[in-house]
Amino acid sequence: MSAQPILKVEGLKKYFPVEKGFLRRVVGQVKAVDDVNLEIAAGETLGLVGESGSGKTTVGRCILRALKPTQGSIQFQIAENRIVDMAQLSDRELRAVRPQANMIFQDPFYSLDPRWTILDIVGEPLKLANLAKGKELEDRVAYLMEVVGLEAKHLRRYPHAFSGGQRQRIGVARALATNPRLIVADEPVSALDVSTQAQILNLLQDLQREFALSYLFIAHDLSVVEHISDRVAVMYVGKIVEVAKRDQLFFFPKHPYTEALLSAVPTPDPDVEKERIILPGEIANPADPPSGCYFHPRCRYVKAICRDEEPPLREVSPGQWTSCHFAEELSLAGAPQQPHGA
Ligand code: SF4
Repeated sequence: MSAQPILKVEGLKKYFPVEKGFLRRVVGQVKAVDDVNLEIAAGETLGLVGESGSGKTTVGRCILRALKPTQGSIQFQIAENRIVDMAQLSDRELRAVRPQANMIFQDPFYSLDPRWTILDIVGEPLKLANLAKGKELEDRVAYLMEVVGLEAKHLRRYPHAFSGGQRQRIGVARALATNPRLIVADEPVSALDVSTQAQILNLLQDLQREFALSYLFIAHDLSVVEHISDRVAVMYVGKIVEVAKRDQLFFFPKHPYTEALLSAVPTPDPDVEKERIILPGEIANPADPPSGCYFHPRCRYVKAICRDEEPPLREVSPGQWTSCHFAEELSLAGAPQQPHGA
């Protein structure tokens, strides 16, 4: 993995208690995130992909401390030579660190308060962090509007006056307001139509170059993360089952779950035929996961050992980590194109 990560997550767990009865006795745990390790380098985008219920959003919320992790460390480099463990910070310490890491939310229709003007919405993080007020704050918001491709003269309008794509630009401006080093983008384009998706993805890439941002880009669909990610991690039932450089993962997947997700990615060439792998059943219940490999009830390559022994996440080729007993033996189908530059 990267030599100088801006973010290093180790052994991250987030369990939610299952309570029962009048006395709310704890009878189990939903292991939403279960021993996740990941790193993001300065200026890098890590795509985090998995079905609904895989735990990817919970990882993002733990990193930003919207949720307190059950266990693990979240080393975040907030300045040159200054690293903090987000998992251990008190509320007071968090307030000082929060401007360095922000979130872009999925739904631009519900994530913006309809009673607030754009000036209120984009300026709020600056106010909360005591970074600007009055004319200085207004100038900063006007600047941010232009940075995200909107007109500064509209900052006293309300969200309903903007289209879905424009609202997501407002969400991006808000995330940028405090000059963060890290942005967690949680399905930032999944509520938008395809052409607007491409515009927002291009904007995020331009902003990354301009402001040296690092992104954790969460999506349920590999096709969305393909063009924006440097590396991609795939989650299944609270665990990372594969992580690799983008081209490694797309063209040479080593985990059967990655292969199935890739089979759903549309090909640009309609003459290219490929098999769509329909996984049987639902994603496993994190409160009662299967024995052995959590993916075994849905895996087309399952063997006896898969039901008994959990495969560890291990490096199967340089930079590619996979948790499958048969990663070296299986010949899995990747995306049909050739790797960039090949
Ligand atoms: Fe499939 Fe077995 Fe590999 Fe799990 S360990 S992904 S069940 S082949």
